[in-house]
Amino acid sequence: MDIKVDFDRCEANGVCVGIAPDLFDLNDDDELTVVHPIPDGREADAREAIVQCPRAALTEV
Ligand code: SF4
Repeated sequence: MDIKVDFDRCEANGVCVGIAPDLFDLNDDDELTVVHPIPDGREADAREAIVQCPRAALTEV
């Protein structure tokens, strides 16, 4: 699986990073990066981050 970020919606609050810091990262400029593709076995946390994102900025693709 892979995850797409809607950067118009993301407010860099770090909820996804808190759930899966190995998959999501915020740099010093509050820019979010995501591991592509999501590694095998990490899909559950990736989907949890999608659900928990308070801005609905993450989409499974
Ligand atoms: S949880 Fe959503 S709004 Fe927060 S940093 Fe992640 S993608 Fe952005």
